[in-house]
Amino acid sequence: MTDKEKKHSELRLDLVSKDWVVIATSRARGKRPFEERRIPLDDSLEKCPFETMAKQESPTLAYLHGEQVMLPQSGSSPKDWTTISIPNKYPAFFPQKALKTKLVGPYSVMQGVGYHEVIVTRHHRKEIPDLPLPLVKELFDLYQKRYLEVMNVELINHIAIFKNKGFYAGASLFHPHSQLIANPVLDPDLRRSLNGSASYYAEHATCAHCVMLEWDLKDKKRVVFENERMAVICPFAPRGIFEMRIIPKEHSAYFEWITEEEKVALAEAFQVALRKLKKAMRDPDYNYFLHTAPADRQKYDHYHWHWEILPKTMNWGGFEVGTGIQISTIAPEEAAGILRKS
Ligand SMILES: [Zn+2]
Ligand SMILES: [Zn+2]
Repeated sequence: MTDKEKKHSELRLDLVSKDWVVIATSRARGKRPFEERRIPLDDSLEKCPFETMAKQESPTLAYLHGEQVMLPQSGSSPKDWTTISIPNKYPAFFPQKALKTKLVGPYSVMQGVGYHEVIVTRHHRKEIPDLPLPLVKELFDLYQKRYLEVMNVELINHIAIFKNKGFYAGASLFHPHSQLIANPVLDPDLRRSLNGSASYYAEHATCAHCVMLEWDLKDKKRVVFENERMAVICPFAPRGIFEMRIIPKEHSAYFEWITEEEKVALAEAFQVALRKLKKAMRDPDYNYFLHTAPADRQKYDHYHWHWEILPKTMNWGGFEVGTGIQISTIAPEEAAGILRKS
């Protein structure tokens, strides 16, 4: 690193969220600044609640090697399924027939109505990088099917699908799992993404994500992987180092409309992205989540669905918490280069 590089940092503006981020590579300490401490979760089979499913509630959806299967109310054998969705034992939201709201002083309060499910893949130790590709695709089959089922339920306006892997990413169980939460309100992160996309569309009459994607594919510096239908990109203005987005090349606002061919391509892109991340950062904790148009019966044709993968690499300091501005110590161009080679 030259002295000039040492004294250089850059503020970058995200096109959609309109958030500024800082790229300050001189803040990177040590040779591999992205290797962080980890707290291992208990990986014993005996204590894993998903090995027998004995104490779980009845599944809402299950697949066995690519075919949807009907399972008994309780006590299904582990051999009966390869991917399954079950109600969360400790839900943040509860199904209700009606929505009760009230005022508490100047505040609005609403009942926590909705669905909170855990989506589990069968193998105790195999995450997406290690599964056979058809089982990765099956996971996206389940996400799509469950999304379509839940989106038409009255009171449901928004469905979040996400994964926490590892202690620092918020996971409490070792066994590979992700979650689905459906509720009446839009989360602030998605709302900002939607508003940003709408205002970009109003100004430029085109989709901000399509513009970013076109430039990224031409520029190539931030492309980690692409196949015919999907691209894996390190975003120009990332919220953290090694952040990746998986985005369909064909413009579409609604993940639930994904085609079979796109799902195969998405499964491949997801697997490649997470394999590379695992290798480059030595199996980091991470979150992934879906950004898609909400299910509130409004039109969001300007939006462009995508998945985001955010490795959990650092704790937020006062600057990040107080300002909301993220500092990345590795530029996305460099991160993409490392990931491409991994
Ligand atoms: Zn297990
Ligand atoms: Zn688009």
